Formats: sequence, C-alpha cells, structure tokens
Amino acid sequence: MMTSGPLRFRGSIFGRVKAASALIDLHDDPQPPHPVGRRALPLSLTSTTLGRLGNTMASDSVATPARHAGSRTSHARAILGPALYDKLPDTKVLLVGAGGIGCELLKNIVLAGFGHITLLDLDTIDLSNLNRQFLFKKKDVKQSKAMVAARTASAFNPNVHIYPIHGNIKDPQFDLSWFKQFDIVLNALDNLDARRHVNKMCMAGEIPLVESGTAGYLGQVQPLLKNRTECFDCIPKPTPKTFPVCTIRSTPSQPIHCIVWAKSYLMSQLFGEDENAIGELDEAEKQGENAQEIATLRKEAQAFKAVRAALRSPQGTDAAKKAFQKVFYSDILNLLSMEDMWRYRDKPVPLDFDAIESDEFVIRGVHASQAKIVANGAPAAPNGTANGAKAANGSAKPVNGATENGTKGLKDQRALSLRDSWEMFVKSTDRLSARLRAGEETISFDKDDDDTLDFVTAAANLRSAAYGIQGKSRWEVKEMAGNIIPAIATTNAIISGLIVLQALHLLRKSYTALRNVHLQFKPAVPLSTINLSPPNPVCGVCRDAYAELQCDPARVTLGEVIDGILGEDEGDETREVSTYEDKRMLSDPDFDDNLGRTLESLNVTRGNFLSIVDEDGEYEAVTLAIGVLPPNHSIDAPAYILPSPLPKPAKKVKRPPPPPSTPPPPASGSLKRSAPVDDDIVEQPPPKRVKTAEANGTAANYSPSKKRKLDEDGLVMLEQQDEKIDDDVIVID
Ligand SMILES: [Zn+2]
Repeated sequence: MMTSGPLRFRGSIFGRVKAASALIDLHDDPQPPHPVGRRALPLSLTSTTLGRLGNTMASDSVATPARHAGSRTSHARAILGPALYDKLPDTKVLLVGAGGIGCELLKNIVLAGFGHITLLDLDTIDLSNLNRQFLFKKKDVKQSKAMVAARTASAFNPNVHIYPIHGNIKDPQFDLSWFKQFDIVLNALDNLDARRHVNKMCMAGEIPLVESGTAGYLGQVQPLLKNRTECFDCIPKPTPKTFPVCTIRSTPSQPIHCIVWAKSYLMSQLFGEDENAIGELDEAEKQGENAQEIATLRKEAQAFKAVRAALRSPQGTDAAKKAFQKVFYSDILNLLSMEDMWRYRDKPVPLDFDAIESDEFVIRGVHASQAKIVANGAPAAPNGTANGAKAANGSAKPVNGATENGTKGLKDQRALSLRDSWEMFVKSTDRLSARLRAGEETISFDKDDDDTLDFVTAAANLRSAAYGIQGKSRWEVKEMAGNIIPAIATTNAIISGLIVLQALHLLRKSYTALRNVHLQFKPAVPLSTINLSPPNPVCGVCRDAYAELQCDPARVTLGEVIDGILGEDEGDETREVSTYEDKRMLSDPDFDDNLGRTLESLNVTRGNFLSIVDEDGEYEAVTLAIGVLPPNHSIDAPAYILPSPLPKPAKKVKRPPPPPSTPPPPASGSLKRSAPVDDDIVEQPPPKRVKTAEANGTAANYSPSKKRKLDEDGLVMLEQQDEKIDDDVIVID
C-alpha cells in the first residue's frame, strides 16, 4: 500500500472546480499529504444541495482504519466508506467522450479510485479545446483525445488502468457483448444520436448509465437504469429549430432565414455534393407545400448545375458573377412571376450585379454603397433618420454620412453596406472556387473557416437586402450560423462531480438516493434535484424486450430470424409483425419482399438493432442486438444462435385513441409496395417512434421529467413541446 508520494489530490475528490490548479497541485506540490480530516470533505461545491448529496454518500461509511490514514486513498475511503471504496478498483467503467465533460470526469474517476476505465472518443484535439479540456496541452493538438487524455490521467494514480479507444461508439465492434463487460457507463457526449445509441445499448444490456450535458452555465446529470428510471428516450426530445422549406427558399422574413439559406442551402448547392435538392422538394410537396412554387424551385435546382460547373472550370473567372446572377437576379425574377405569392407580402427586389459594382444600383431609394445593413441590433443612423417608420421591412436603410469611425477596429462587427456585401460575395466565391480547382472536392460551412464565413455572411446579407430584411454583421452571422454557446470549464467541472456522485449511488444500488440534478442560472439555488420518474410505460425504447442474436449476417435471412424469434414451430397462428432497423422499415404483413434476403444485404449487421413489432399492438416490440457467432461455431450449423430463453415481450399498456384532430400519417402504401429494387429500402418512421412522440401524459400515473435537455458544448435543445415542427424540413445544424 502506498503511504505517500508525489501524486496526490487535495480538497474534493469529486468536484474540484478549478481543474487546472488541481493538475498543478498534483504534479508540483512537494509537501506531504494532508491527514484525513475535515478538509477531506468536498470543499469546492458548498451548496446545501450538494452538501446533502455528499452526506448521503458518506452515510454508510465507517471509521477509517488507521492504516489508511495519510495514504493517497484515505480521503476517498473516508467519504465513500470501505465497502464501496474497495469495489472501485475492480469496477469496469466505460466513459464515452473525452471532451469538456469527459476530461473533467476522467480526472475525477481516476482520483476516486476506479481501477479499470475504458475511454472512447472519435475526435482529435483542437486548439480551441485547450481553455477547458485540461488534460490537453498545445503540443497535443491534432492528436487523439482519448489517447492523450488517458496518458495524462494515468499519471494521477499509479493503480489505474485506462484503455483509450480512438473510435466511434457506433462502430460495429462495440456491440451488446462488448457493452456488457462494463459495470457502468458514463456519457460525456455532445450529440443526440450517439446518446440515444448508448442509451439503447444500456437498456438492452441493463447496464447502469449516467447521462449528462452542459450548455453555458447550465448543466444536468441524469442516472438511467432499465425498469427503474426513465431512459433517455422516455420523453421525446425537442427537435432542433427547423423551418419550412418554402420559408427558407422563397419567402424569408427574418435574418435567420437568410442565414440558414446561405449556410445550409446555397453553400451545399454550389460547393457541396451534387445531390439532395430534388428529394427535399419531393418531401416538401408531400407535406403539402405550394405545388407551383415547388415546380419553380425544381427549375432553380436544375440551373445550379451550370453555376457549379463554372465554379470548377479552370477558367472560372466569371463564376462569382454567374452565381450572383442566378440566385439574386434570375431566381428572384422567377419568384416574382408568381403573383399570388406576393399578394400579402412585400416583393423582393432582384439585384443587378453590374449596377451594384458601379454603384448605380438603387434599392428602395438608396444607392448600394449607402444601403447600410444595420448590425448588432443598433440603429445605424448617426443622423437619427434611419431607424424609422418601416421597421418590419426595414433593412437597407440609408445611413447618410455613416463612416467606419469607431468600428474600424472591429472588422467583424462592422455594419456592411449592400456594396460591401457584394464585394465580400465576389471575393469569397473566388477564393472558394480556387479551392475547388485546387482539388478540394466539397466545402461546407465551418464558422472557423474564413472563406465560408465570408461567403455565408455576404450571401445572407445580399438576400436580406433583396427581401428588405435587416442584415447582420459578420460576427452575428458567425454566432447565429455556428450555434455558438460558450463552453464554460466551471460548468463542466461541477457536472462531472455530480456524475460521479450519481454513478456511486448506482454502483451501491442506493436507488432511492438517485436524483436528476440540474445546474441552473440562479445564484441562490445553483443546483436543483428531482426525484426520478419511473419508465414511461409507452416508451418505444426501454419497454422493448431485448436479446442478443449471435449470427452471421451474410448468411442468415430476415425471415429465418423472425420465425426463430416468434417460435413458429409451436403451431400457433402466425403473428403479424413488422421489422425495423432504427427508423427503416424492412418488412410488414403486406410487404414480405425482404424476408428471403440476408441481414447483411439489408444493412443489418453487428452493432445494429433489429426490432420486431407486433402489428396487433398487443405486445411490446422485441429488439435484437446483432452480435457475432462464437469462434468455435461450426460452419455446418445454422448461421445464427437464438437467444435462450426467447425474449418474451410484455403486454402493451393500452393507450387512449388519438384525438380526432391528429392529421393522417403521410400516404405511404404505394411506396411500400414499389420500393425495394436492390439496396433501396423504404424509409418510414416506425409506429414505435410515433408512439414515443405522442407519449406525453398518455398513461396514468406517469409524469415525465420536464426539464430541458442540454448538449455538451453546443446547441441548447429548448423545451418547446408545443412548437409546430411537422412541416419543417431544413435543419439548422
Ligand atoms: Zn424509455
């Protein structure tokens, strides 16, 4: 046993707020360690709520044996109690994510005494990470986050084994068997997709999971355990803000509409892969958007081909002008020809490339070089005339005599005139075009890529000018297009401490002590705790019966799997089922074309889930996690091993019929029959998902947690359950 040494940790083992100084302490402090005592209790998080959490944790501890006094483990041992503490060296943890929360959390669990930590992250270190991801230094930039974090944190505790993996948690080798080796999973992820995947794996394997997220000063921690708590998918997640296609493409009315158009539509039409516009329009037409308008948009999409070619041709000198004339002149003329569209709206004004260049262009009575775009929300008129009457339609205001004084030092925050935007458009298009010619195949928006930021700023402002919408400065466009929310090291540190507390409750099976914890922007009450809700009885994820199907997807067919799982040899009447991989429907009672196909040919392979859904709605779904056959499996034996016993789905909780006002689902019968030629599989949301979406409040006694969900270092997922998003197609990010 270690009695002393250079590596030790002073103060809280969980919630050290200043991780940077903690690292310095660890490496450099030559003094002997503190004895066990009052200072060993958590110091950094002193709110009463957290104090209570910490005390609960210590409640079953017994007096620290004298032999531990003064050792590097004595603090943790005193707080956790020997029973729990002695378990930690053998506990296997999976930590998913080595970013803002992941770095803090790794430090915490290494110091808390966890012995076996698998750390997975697919990212590499970026310079901008260094202000909060303290396990990384400047020399580590561009290296794997998992590898560097593991190397740095290993030094904090000689007894820890960290197994770093530079990879994607959705990679096939991380199947259910792989997940099942862990005693607990800790999520430190930054995207919804990966979170849902890990949630599903943990529900399938009944592995305790602690989910977390931060955004700015806000954060949350949520412990999840199958059959005891809500799972991550028990309450529907609000979709990121989206807009109807036609608002973005034809009838913008706010600056954000123009920014989304420039970033998500124009950028990809000109510099992205050559695709998707037609599919998007098909979808919009199905959603019932204006057919004549859709036809016009189709023509527009065709005309992009010529501009794309010009941007890529070796003599692409005129490409910027061609692009400009197409989107700011011809397309607007086309739209103007649809009189109906403008009956209740202000008409856009087509922009004239040459006239703007020579400053002869006049828009709403103002010359292009004088048509200042109001930036930072401030009235841009020094003479007090600009921010006048027609506010709703009020961009391109005259700002007579406005100078660059006072804004020169802040290039990004400068109000741009129409002429400025024109120039920025031409220059950035030329630079992007040169990059295509130099071999870049596609270029997409990146807020830190100046060429793309200039392009999006210029294009959005030109469009705003044409439609009479307020423009935005380069800085504002960067914020709005990049969904920037500051990532704060302190928030990550607090949340990471709370994750460890909840993880320890789960490991001790102190289920009554589990809490959803929220860090909120209220100085008097920074933390709030909420008792956990039971699973949503109609959840489409955690109510399924899970099992692992070991198989060779190249040899086993969908039909064999269905028959095997349903136990068809019992002589019962065949149950009517549909099958899904995620949201893809593979078969239903009226569509059996795929039953003879192998799972591999249907893209259902290791690490995927195959759901068998009861069409009569009597039972919950059976969801199979696809795994590999054991190495000694005979080649002559069947290409799959059925789970034993066979999964028995629970009876479904009856739901009231949907209200009559519910719109009918999009027609899909014809699609179903005609689709699968080869690899083409009909995409259609499974009934399970619909069920999730309408889950709220349908079952008696179920009250879902209503708190907002937060992404780490990213988009705030606002809680706007009542927001209408049915007909929305373009997603901002
Ligand atoms: Zn659930």
